[in-house]
Amino acid sequence: MPMLLALVAFLFLCTHAAADTIVLKNGRRILALSAYEDGDKVRYLTSAGELSLPKSIVDHVEQGGAVPMTSGPGAAANLAIAPPTAQPTGGGDIEAIERAAVHDGAIDREYIAKLEGEARTGTKQANFNAAMGHHAAATFELSRGDLEHALTDERTALIYDPEEPALLMNVAYAHLRRSEFKQSLDYLERARRVAPDNPDVAKLAGWAYYGLNKMDQAVAEWKRALALRPDAEVQVALEKTQRDKSEEENYKENGSSHFTLRYNGAAAPALAHDVLRTLEMHFSAIESELNYSPPDSIGVILYTQEAFADITKAPGWAGALNDGRIRVPVQGLTGVDQELSRVLKHELTHSFIQQKTHGRAPAWVQEGLAQWMEGQRSGEHAVALAQIHGEGHAVPMGRLEGSWMGMSGDGARYAYAWALAHIEYIVQADGMGDIDRILDRIGSGMSTEAALKEVLHSDYDDLMQSTTEYLRKTYGR
Ligand SMILES: [Zn+2]
Repeated sequence: MPMLLALVAFLFLCTHAAADTIVLKNGRRILALSAYEDGDKVRYLTSAGELSLPKSIVDHVEQGGAVPMTSGPGAAANLAIAPPTAQPTGGGDIEAIERAAVHDGAIDREYIAKLEGEARTGTKQANFNAAMGHHAAATFELSRGDLEHALTDERTALIYDPEEPALLMNVAYAHLRRSEFKQSLDYLERARRVAPDNPDVAKLAGWAYYGLNKMDQAVAEWKRALALRPDAEVQVALEKTQRDKSEEENYKENGSSHFTLRYNGAAAPALAHDVLRTLEMHFSAIESELNYSPPDSIGVILYTQEAFADITKAPGWAGALNDGRIRVPVQGLTGVDQELSRVLKHELTHSFIQQKTHGRAPAWVQEGLAQWMEGQRSGEHAVALAQIHGEGHAVPMGRLEGSWMGMSGDGARYAYAWALAHIEYIVQADGMGDIDRILDRIGSGMSTEAALKEVLHSDYDDLMQSTTEYLRKTYGR
């Protein structure tokens, strides 16, 4: 498990989305996905199902609250760059294969299987045909935004024809659309070896570097692409990047002892100083809490909302993220307000944990501790969590270890609430020293549960039990 965790690149997405808040007469607030009155009860939804309270103890329900950052399906289109147009060149009747592989709005898997059967004879043409069958399927899937299947089909196509630039570029394109920039570059390098002067290779490589925030290389690739072929999409991307680049260059001086700060958008200059000052303050606080000082300088990038959504392709519920660099949308801000300060401390905590554990901390430790550091406590969720646990619906802790990227907004809210509750319980029981010791053990390669057993003498089931008891005792009515 630690081995596996070490290989997974975690993204830490940080939500501050809320739905409805039920305010009780005793002043306590309960956060729910949605709440409504039903006779003498107030019913409210959690991701574990519907719960209810007697209306007599409810003062009122606040609807809405913070609205999650939303982006429609089209808004995540990243750079407005269409799939590569390169056509495979392998002889045979490619068009006939395309027509047979995809017809009537669907992929003909039987036909493709037949091509694969013929490829077993080993002739070059038969292998090429099988590649074209999968390529046609991938192109179709790409056109429908089904990136996952497009990748599977195009990678299969490459097994039959490993050096075909059109296939390599399609794989690269699907990775780009998924913000997997490094993987994309691997395929583009392969494509470049066989087709050094293909303008699409340079075009896509520019996008990959852009995504990796390597603006000089992005500009160089796009200039190269334009020299090979005029292209309106490249022109737009190049101009945008040159604007961003000059903006970043303007603020180059904005580094401090622990941070390198970059802009990617039209943020106010005063904001940069304010952000750095805030980060340094939080750095000292977290440093003394965790008894640890990260050796590597921490990269921070401030985005406009639009650029954040375009570049990070984070789910709609993500307010900021940390993928090795702290990426924060700061649209419309001129200085650090309380909310941004909180977000910065949360993201900075992730950087500390990441470096202290060499990237081995599971998601629940990361998100729980980050929330705790930013000052969140379990009050508003406590009753619902205890009730969910009492009804046997609590998510097993093991499920909170891996990436939360695929979770729905509801699922994520629930995961965050449990993560915070567990960390809060551990800290209040024996202080931050236990967290420190647990992180050190995780960092040395121990599984999280084994680390808990050594430090707390608890396994996951015990922790679940203790956390729930703590919630009842501390916040119970
Ligand atoms: Zn987070």
